[in-house]
Amino acid sequence: MKRVIVLGMLLAVATLSMWAASLQNPTETPPLEVQKVKDRLYMITGGCQCGNTAVFVTDNGVVVVDTKNPNTGKGILEKIKTVTEKPVTMIINTHTHQDHTGSNEDFSPTVDIVAHENTKMNMTKMTNFQGDKVKFLPKKTYKDKLVLGKGKDEIDLFYFGRAHTNGDSFVVFPAVGVMHSGDAFAGKTTPLIDTNNGGSAVEYGKTLAKAASTIKNVDTIITGHSPLMKPADLKEYADFNNDFITWVQGEIKAGKTVDQAAAEWKPGPKYPGYGPPADFFGGIKGNIQTAYNELKK
Ligand SMILES: [Zn+2]
Repeated sequence: MKRVIVLGMLLAVATLSMWAASLQNPTETPPLEVQKVKDRLYMITGGCQCGNTAVFVTDNGVVVVDTKNPNTGKGILEKIKTVTEKPVTMIINTHTHQDHTGSNEDFSPTVDIVAHENTKMNMTKMTNFQGDKVKFLPKKTYKDKLVLGKGKDEIDLFYFGRAHTNGDSFVVFPAVGVMHSGDAFAGKTTPLIDTNNGGSAVEYGKTLAKAASTIKNVDTIITGHSPLMKPADLKEYADFNNDFITWVQGEIKAGKTVDQAAAEWKPGPKYPGYGPPADFFGGIKGNIQTAYNELKK
């Protein structure tokens, strides 16, 4: 692998960990905790500066959505033992980032691993999945929609287009009315757009709007990095991202430079508190630059 690519990936991983930290407690790692969301459906938070894990108990075994940073799997398994004695039979990775896939290797190699086809491609580039560890890459992939299990155990995976990356899955548990949105909806901040893994500022809001209008019968959302939210929050987040692009288009038309636009940007009265999570990828200026790059192509 070329040195420059490795460096870029290391930087991206460091940046994402810091970003995850900024969305949670900036000073210390919160303890690993399991929270009941619905019957048979739990959320595991903390344990590292990393993404939220969902745990769904089915007749056949336990399904885990996202495995957090490396070396967190043992703790996740201990927390699962406090709610069920069933073994983990499936992992779903919402997207490629290490703070959502890093502990795949702590689970049995016989576990089914499922992700969007682009996420599998992105994961094959990660140092976490080289050599012996290729066995912890997704074994089952899909393009637009995948239905796993049936009846009360059904899980639906949806791909609606590019947003945080080019492989963001929305994972729906219809019987209990819950969805895990991954980092496409990590929280109410300006989005982090990982262009190295196919993310898109211009598509971001459209992708979220499709998710909001297509996924019905859900009343609770497990976000990538924040507390539980509601479908209305997802809709608002879609609007925020679409309004952002409309605003950027106006700035381009007005002949503003990226620096001028960044100086003018405000979340606006409709979106109080929607600041950049931190100054990563150049903060809001980075997002504006990404949008300029895409819109001026
Ligand atoms: Zn992510």
